[in-house]
Amino acid sequence: MELRALGTSGGIGQGLRTTAFLVDGWLLVDAGSGVGDLTAAELGGIRDVLLTHAHLDHTAYLGLMADARIGDGTPPIRVHAPAPTLDVLREHLFNGVLWPDFTAIPTPQEPVLVFEPLPSAQALILGAFHITPLPARHSVPAVGYRIDDGSGSLVFSGDTGASPALRERLEELGMPDALIIECAFPDALESLARQVGHYTPAQLVDELRHWPAGVRVWVTHLKPGAAARIEEELREQAAAAGVHCELLRGGDVLQIGR
Ligand SMILES: [Zn+2]
Ligand SMILES: [Zn+2]
Repeated sequence: MELRALGTSGGIGQGLRTTAFLVDGWLLVDAGSGVGDLTAAELGGIRDVLLTHAHLDHTAYLGLMADARIGDGTPPIRVHAPAPTLDVLREHLFNGVLWPDFTAIPTPQEPVLVFEPLPSAQALILGAFHITPLPARHSVPAVGYRIDDGSGSLVFSGDTGASPALRERLEELGMPDALIIECAFPDALESLARQVGHYTPAQLVDELRHWPAGVRVWVTHLKPGAAARIEEELREQAAAAGVHCELLRGGDVLQIGR
């Protein structure tokens, strides 16, 4: 599979886009501001969306994407997420007040968006992909995803604080070829990170020590105001621990498996 990193930042700023990945041109993982760089034809090619959680840096462009698809003749976009996440989007975003209810327009029979709640911890099959939700520890209900196309597998942590639960679940399912994991805060904000569910470099390096060396690790979601510090802390601590990871940047394309 090919993963195109449309947005990898934990916030906005010139040249920065928030979380969105496009897999094989038709599966969108999260819908942050990175979606806004796609052409109309590329937007029209999106068939399914996986959401990790409801936070705006991961969902704001779902609404704008739905609006851009009105009248383009493409089939509805299926939006997959745990039910609590879809409930939040229905109640607070697509509520006819903040934004139109694109699950009922242009017509309830042929809407732009179709919400499909994920049965928790059960695999979803989309095309050649086996998709399994994974545990995450965040301030709101959140999941990560394992995506396997039979030739390679990728895990995206979504937003999560320090926890061995992700690794423990993957030890049951099978370790992936690649891991994209977040590190939002610098070490100085460790107590806040624990409180709201984000990683710091020290916590992340500590966790990655337990991962098999064969898993390629990319780090995302650095908060822009502290990005240089987070990057430096990560580089130093990863080197000292003999852990290998690199930053995933907007525009990067990863080839996983075939
Ligand atoms: Zn979040
Ligand atoms: Zn986020």
